[in-house]
Amino acid sequence: MCNCFDENLARVTEHLKDRISGEFTEFEADWKDQSFFLDGKKHVPVNPKIKYSYRLKKKDGTPRANKTNHEVSMVARYCPFCGEDTQADEAD
Ligand SMILES: [Zn+2]
Repeated sequence: MCNCFDENLARVTEHLKDRISGEFTEFEADWKDQSFFLDGKKHVPVNPKIKYSYRLKKKDGTPRANKTNHEVSMVARYCPFCGEDTQADEAD
């Protein structure tokens, strides 16, 4: 697998640090919603999500006060930066 995520994180981290005016400590930056896989295969570490919501109806047919919210994750096979094929969804 390519190093695009590590390289881009390092590049953006340096850029963000340069933009801070004044002294600072404990700077942290990382990919949001990073996934960890236990199958030993190469994966894109940050994958797109689909959020969905709906409002259930009560037994009398009127809508409930609150909506129900969920998310489902997709796994990208190709690196979004360089297009390298992870081949993660191929059989062993
Ligand atoms: Zn890449």
